[in-house]
Amino acid sequence: MIKKIEHLGIAVKDLNVSIQLYEKLFQSECYKIESVESEGVKTAFFQVGESKIELLEASKQGSPIAKFIEKKGPGFHHVAFETTDIDIEIERLINEGFELIHLTPKDGADNKRIAFLHPKAVDGLLLELCQEKST
Ligand code: ZN
Repeated sequence: MIKKIEHLGIAVKDLNVSIQLYEKLFQSECYKIESVESEGVKTAFFQVGESKIELLEASKQGSPIAKFIEKKGPGFHHVAFETTDIDIEIERLINEGFELIHLTPKDGADNKRIAFLHPKAVDGLLLELCQEKST
C-alpha cells in the first residue's frame, strides 16, 4: 500500500551552495548528508514540519542526476511515496502494467529500500517507492 509522500527530491548543481540556500529558506539545518555510490549521487536531507526534502547532486559524470541536470537543469526531480511493503507494491504495479526502472528494491539514502517507476509510466512524473529498512 502507498501510505504517504515520504519526501520530495530536488536536483541541484552544487550541494554545498544549495544546502546554504535551503537552510536560509527553512531556517533549519540539513540533518543528513549521504552519498549513494551505486546511483552516483550525493544527497542532503531537510525536515520541514512533517515533510522531508532531499537535495541531490551528481557525484559521477553520466549518473542519472547528471543526465537530468544536463537535460532539464536543476529543480524538482521526484516524489517519493512510503509503502507498507515495497516488494508487494512493486509486484502490484508490474501486474497493473506500470513500467519500473528497478524491478527489485535497491538500497537508497536515509536507510531506505527504494525503487523508481519510469516517468513514462506516470505522465512524466518520476516516482520513487520507498520503505524504511527494518533495523
Ligand atoms: Zn528520493
